[in-house]
Amino acid sequence: MPSTAASTQELAEFGRRAAAWLARSAAPRSQEDAWGAGSDSVAVFHDLSHEDELALLRQVGEWQRCKYDAGFGALTWPVELGGAGLSSAYEEAFNALEVAYDVPPAHELSSVTLHLVAPTLRLFGTPHQVATHLRPLLRGDELCCQLFSEPAAGSDLSGLGTRAVRDGDDWVVTGQKVWSSGAQFARWGELIARTDPDAVKQAGLTAFLLPLDLPGVDVRPLRQMSGGTSFCEVFLDEVRIPDSLRLGDVGAGWKVALATLGFERGHSGASSRVGGGWQQLLPLAQELQRDTDPHVRQLLADVWISEQVARLAAQRDHESRLSGDEPGPVGSLRKLHWVQGMALASEAAAAVLGPRLAADTGEWGTFAWTEHLLGAPGYRIAGGTDEIQRNIIGDRLLGLPAEPRQDRGPWRDVPR
Ligand SMILES: Cc1cc2nc3c(=O)[nH]c(=O)nc-3n(C[C@H](O)[C@H](O)[C@H](O)COP(=O)(O)OP(=O)(O)OC[C@H]3O[C@@H](n4cnc5c(N)ncnc54)[C@H](O)[C@@H]3O)c2cc1C
Repeated sequence: MPSTAASTQELAEFGRRAAAWLARSAAPRSQEDAWGAGSDSVAVFHDLSHEDELALLRQVGEWQRCKYDAGFGALTWPVELGGAGLSSAYEEAFNALEVAYDVPPAHELSSVTLHLVAPTLRLFGTPHQVATHLRPLLRGDELCCQLFSEPAAGSDLSGLGTRAVRDGDDWVVTGQKVWSSGAQFARWGELIARTDPDAVKQAGLTAFLLPLDLPGVDVRPLRQMSGGTSFCEVFLDEVRIPDSLRLGDVGAGWKVALATLGFERGHSGASSRVGGGWQQLLPLAQELQRDTDPHVRQLLADVWISEQVARLAAQRDHESRLSGDEPGPVGSLRKLHWVQGMALASEAAAAVLGPRLAADTGEWGTFAWTEHLLGAPGYRIAGGTDEIQRNIIGDRLLGLPAEPRQDRGPWRDVPR
């Protein structure tokens, strides 16, 4: 069912209903708006212990359930799939109200579940899979990570080597995945595996929904130098997945992976805040009396413009996606713009803070920016590197000649 366009009156009525529900369901964040009060975190990645991250994910899940049950958790999803069937204007209106409340911060794994895996399931799932698995994902009951990258397949994802071999009604999967964000907390993984090594590399892949508690699955968190463990290695040793958990046709795994990556790139920076931006930089510059410096002013203006462009592009993409279309290469433009915006915010913060960025004096809202500066480059890699986005833009949007390739034959014969 197509989503309903917003009339001013309907939107205002929705806003009143949402505001009343939020006031009943969450505590206001009011005193945190003041400089020096509340959390000053502008971290791009969570740097938490296992227990703290688990506790955060529980809170995120509870809040999502609360919203879903009240009809605010899947606003732009079609009614027949458990959503409210509304346009993104309603979602924006809700998000604008929600920021004033003390609700759990975003978490990468719930974002992957809601914005990457759920729409992929909608596109490629059988009616039975959609009926069974979509609601728990949208309601925040279950989390699903991405099992794409391997030690020898990141940018060259379609060259991946995890094998799935058909055996009766099952597939037997053996291989290794890496950089699987949040796998230690997920119930499911969207797995891409090689089912036909004799086909050209993109044609021999198939996608599955993998329950991570199956025998033979070994999830090992990777300790980062920051102390946190955002990523995992996932070892798969003769894991038997029933064919009923295959996502899409046999051999259509590359199409499924591209859809998920398209959703990832298209969603980049779309809703929840990652790191710091205009909202934190302006009071920072004012507080440190750097807002009269011409260089700082120029950078702040650039950050503001970049965020406005990102917001409008996100809105346009979202509207065009509501009909259930597959995401296209334009998502690469969005992702590139988003990571460039994060780098711009880093530059502006450095110009405002100067030496305060390098030494922790305990001053609120200053040294905290190191977590933005050190984390932002990670998103130049996640979801496909900047170079890969540029290749996609050149090849598929601008019609420039494709990269020279030496991997056109069967995957089995491609030199590795
Ligand atoms: C924060 C973060 C979260 C992640 N989460 C997940 C996840 O949840 N699930 C998952 O499966 N993976 C995840 N990844 C992995 C990510 O998708 C890969 O790291 C990424 O695709 C790059 O692959 P690679 O690390 O193997 O680098 P490589 O592919 O080895 O690339 C190395 C360098 O070579 C360049 N390069 C490679 N090929 C080309 C080319 N054709 N043209 C120009 N330059 C090229 C790259 O741009 C890069 O600079 C995550 C990564 C990060 C940083």
